[in-house]
Amino acid sequence: MNKNAFRQLSYGVYVVSTWDKGRATGCTANSAMQITSDPATIAVSINHDNYTNQCIEDTGRFAVSILGEHSDPGIIGVFGFQSGKDVNKFDQVESVVKAHLPVVSDACAYLVCEVVDRMETSTHTVFLGKVVDADVLKKDDAMTYAYYHSVIKGKSPKNAPTYLAEEDVASKPEASRYVCGICGYVYEGDVPFEDLPDDYVCPVCKQPKSVFQKK
Ligand code: FE
Repeated sequence: MNKNAFRQLSYGVYVVSTWDKGRATGCTANSAMQITSDPATIAVSINHDNYTNQCIEDTGRFAVSILGEHSDPGIIGVFGFQSGKDVNKFDQVESVVKAHLPVVSDACAYLVCEVVDRMETSTHTVFLGKVVDADVLKKDDAMTYAYYHSVIKGKSPKNAPTYLAEEDVASKPEASRYVCGICGYVYEGDVPFEDLPDDYVCPVCKQPKSVFQKK
């Protein structure tokens, strides 16, 4: 099986959020899709390891913030590369409450849902949500996973459905690339990595220059 075929599927980049006993929490997700238009329902796929999964189970509600191409890529780092069990992710990202759920302010649109059904897979829960509120927050093109991968140079956390092991991805024959050891972001800027200022931080996960490794 050639897993690169999965790269031909189209995915977005989303923050799926809910409440954890009065505290806002959430995680990134690539797999969200509209299932029906009337009544409007969507499905999202959340890994069992994501703390958000249990919180959605407990509250029966979730919101999907749809990130745009101009959304701060640091949002992906905050929600994708650390656990909501340990960190108050919404302390690091501006949010607004819509239909009683926290959504990311710097998203291009949001959907607020009530869980109407769920399906278990070996690694992920697929939540089916009836949309109870939705709106556009700003004019922007939605960020696709392909855009995140090719323009922002980001990768998937290991528990994302879109994650491909390193050996499955055709690597570029480049002499020296610097890769973030936390999130996998590949630095390919015009300024040589060594010449970047000491206060340079990874644009995706905000970790310092010191976590980058030469590949
Ligand atoms: Fe990073």
